[in-house]
Amino acid sequence: MLFEFTLSTPDEGLVDITNEVRASVRESGINEGICVVFCPHTTAAITINENADPDVKTDFVNGMKNSFPDLNVFRHSEGNSDAHLKSSSVGASETIIIKGGKLLLGTWQGIYFCEFDGPRERKFFVKVIRG
Ligand code: ZN
Repeated sequence: MLFEFTLSTPDEGLVDITNEVRASVRESGINEGICVVFCPHTTAAITINENADPDVKTDFVNGMKNSFPDLNVFRHSEGNSDAHLKSSSVGASETIIIKGGKLLLGTWQGIYFCEFDGPRERKFFVKVIRG
């Protein structure tokens, strides 16, 4: 089953989408399988990271800014090459195992939509597959 979600993002940051992914798995009725979370944008991404200390999200954004600064050598006319680099380095999707009808996430893991060039109206897809 395929689910589509929309969200309004901040200028740069991580949005917790774990509840939306959990709801998709619940609605699919699939007990054993896999779940793919996919971001169809080139300046955003999907990642799994800590869901306990909110400072991790802040550090993630600041660390990415340091790792991928906006450089003078960039030629892309839209002026957001740093966001494109961040998007590809994090990746467009995550795959999560479903066991007993639940996401097989670690205690401290959450699923995040990463915005690198917002604020924007974005979407993401969740595909749930029996197997
Ligand atoms: Zn661009």
